[in-house]
Amino acid sequence: MDVRVGFHVSIAGGISNSVNNAKKLGCTAFQIFSRNPRGWAAKPLLREEVDSFKNRLCESGIEKTAVVVHMPYLPNLSGPPGELYERSVKTLIEEMQRCNLLGISYLVIHLGSHMGGGSNSGIDQLVNALTVASAGSKSENKVIVLLENNVGQKNSVGGTLEELRLILDRLDSSKQFGVCIDTCHLFASGYDLRTKEDVNIIFEKIKAIVGMKELKIVHLNDSKGGLGSNLDRHEHIGLGSIGVEGLTTFLNHRAIQALPIIMETPIDTTRGDEQNLRVVLDMIKK
Ligand SMILES: [Zn+2]
Ligand SMILES: [Zn+2]
Repeated sequence: MDVRVGFHVSIAGGISNSVNNAKKLGCTAFQIFSRNPRGWAAKPLLREEVDSFKNRLCESGIEKTAVVVHMPYLPNLSGPPGELYERSVKTLIEEMQRCNLLGISYLVIHLGSHMGGGSNSGIDQLVNALTVASAGSKSENKVIVLLENNVGQKNSVGGTLEELRLILDRLDSSKQFGVCIDTCHLFASGYDLRTKEDVNIIFEKIKAIVGMKELKIVHLNDSKGGLGSNLDRHEHIGLGSIGVEGLTTFLNHRAIQALPIIMETPIDTTRGDEQNLRVVLDMIKK
């Protein structure tokens, strides 16, 4: 199978515009927000807009299974009980419904912060949120929720591969959940990726601890912060602290060959998306 690779693209002017944005860049995979990621409110998705998205996607030649929605930033699914938590669970349910409506297969979520309550209580809250949200009718609910690893900042839940496994083990319907691995977050949380050997070790760890079959999507980003810096600052591919050797090895590893690869790289005077895509396509061994 040919590699499927692309970016997080804008939905400005309507969600169906994302398909054109992805296509224009030459993406064969892409990620979107289904709403403004920095607010709580979401306008309902109108029938026309949903149809237009589906039609454009169909015409684009981009596979349905290479499209990903990312949850907005405000929800905290691992927080203590209360209004913020209730709102977060409600948002998760809405996002799952929006994915189902749009025919999108994957929803990537951040696992949030226990806010000082300890990782056990954070995981309890998260497992509860995911269980409640996925409780709806299975036939209607086709979206797979992907837990994204994070940079291991203070109070965060899911900062290690072991914790991701622990959370998956506590979720009932294992088929509805999986994992999205972000290379910048791996590196910033302390997993070295700079050399071939480092990358091979990481894949052995993912295989042994999480299990390869859980891995559905890769977020390919270089890191502005150093190893174990806990900084969530993405860098252009090959220009950050991970660098060319590590990212080339990662990209060409047979374990991820069939997976959609999404970049969440900056757009600035150094490079835009076109340049990062060219770099990645050049890194992939023909
Ligand atoms: Zn990411
Ligand atoms: Zn990030």
